[in-house]
Amino acid sequence: MISTITNAIAAGSAAPLPLEKVPLEAYVPPAKPSLIGLSRSELSERLGEIGVAPAQRKMRVQQLWHWIYFRGAKSFDEMTSISKDTRAELAKHFTVDRPEVVAEQISNDGTRKWLLRLPSGDKVEKPHEVECVYIPETDRGTLCVSSQVGCTLNCAFCHTGTQRLVRNLTAGEIVGQVMVARDRLNDWENRESGRLVTNIVMMGMGEPLYNFEAVRDALLIVADNEGIGISRRRITLSTSGVVPNIIRAGEEIGVMLAISLHAVRNELRDVLVPLNRKYPIEELLQACRDYPGASNARRITFEYVMLKGVNDSLDDAKLLVKLLKGIPAKINLIPFNPWPGTAYECSDWDQIEKFSEYIFNAGYSSPVRTPRGRDILAACGQLKSETEKLSARERQALRAMAMTD
Ligand code: SAH
Ligand code: SF4
Repeated sequence: MISTITNAIAAGSAAPLPLEKVPLEAYVPPAKPSLIGLSRSELSERLGEIGVAPAQRKMRVQQLWHWIYFRGAKSFDEMTSISKDTRAELAKHFTVDRPEVVAEQISNDGTRKWLLRLPSGDKVEKPHEVECVYIPETDRGTLCVSSQVGCTLNCAFCHTGTQRLVRNLTAGEIVGQVMVARDRLNDWENRESGRLVTNIVMMGMGEPLYNFEAVRDALLIVADNEGIGISRRRITLSTSGVVPNIIRAGEEIGVMLAISLHAVRNELRDVLVPLNRKYPIEELLQACRDYPGASNARRITFEYVMLKGVNDSLDDAKLLVKLLKGIPAKINLIPFNPWPGTAYECSDWDQIEKFSEYIFNAGYSSPVRTPRGRDILAACGQLKSETEKLSARERQALRAMAMTD
């Protein structure tokens, strides 16, 4: 199967997957909205709407912020520094609910995956679900956060890309994933140095730069040092290359940037990451050169998934080094994580080593990302909620589309 794909690509004859999927589903808010995800000024507005006097609002916002994001309060009852009457009034109109956890899986390597259910307006027929993964390591604990239910893009090797249903998450649902992780790991009690969730990567389901405002608002809350307080240097946003929003991300969010490159020639990247047809490699790399705040101390990560016989030759490695010249970069080689129905295979280990060695000798740090949580389908690109699986026939049709002349 792979050789057919490669040949088709080599011959320039692969009919590429459609660049984007059909319209986004709408967000249907719950009857009583959660305050999670609101900025300070939005919180103040909501307080005004329920009759909190203007002179009191600033103080109330400070209190709510502290209880919600610093202490992790799950109800207004816990917020004892707020008067009882105000608490009752708040509870009448709002909640501090997080997304509902419907399943928790723990891998034999300690990785945890949570399946979260979100309001969909049609909960029985089509619940909206996302996944969120916690990866403990010796020196850090990384939470991999989703930005959309599914993804409108169709990267050929990504499980999430095969999901039909797509909707943007709200800022509250994005921050909510961090809250859920802290809840489940009992991480609110830990002092800063002992925190379990120390790093955030926007590398779960979805393309974060196609949900720019919500991702921005959520990350600004996560980074706020009067609350969750995870510094921007410990937050990484990964994009498949939405060029116009890359600079915005630097200016308006200021987090670390990761680019899902995966191919060094446009004709192959057009197939692997169809968005390349809109924003080709040269434009993408120019946006990286222009990324505000990129420096040797704040390098841009280039992710490169190792696909056997597709993008893993030494010629590819050479061209990669050439392309990245002049960009403060590190390269993250990701062994391909297979999923049911995929046509791709992971490169052989010795090929990954050769590729990595070449890059290393050219002066780049090139860690090979150890797959984590493979046994619970929690590794990169394996996320996909059960309810959204395509039928075998649909998968076959997608593959056929990728391969026919
Ligand atoms: N949509 C964003 C962020 C989510 S994907 C993006 O594409 O960057 C996070 C990373 O996992 C990306 O680099 C993605 O290309 C990679 N990935 C997707 N499927 C994969 C798979 N099956 N095996 C390994 N990595 C994969
Ligand atoms: Fe979407 Fe990223 Fe998967 Fe591509 S790799 S389909 S952009 S989640």
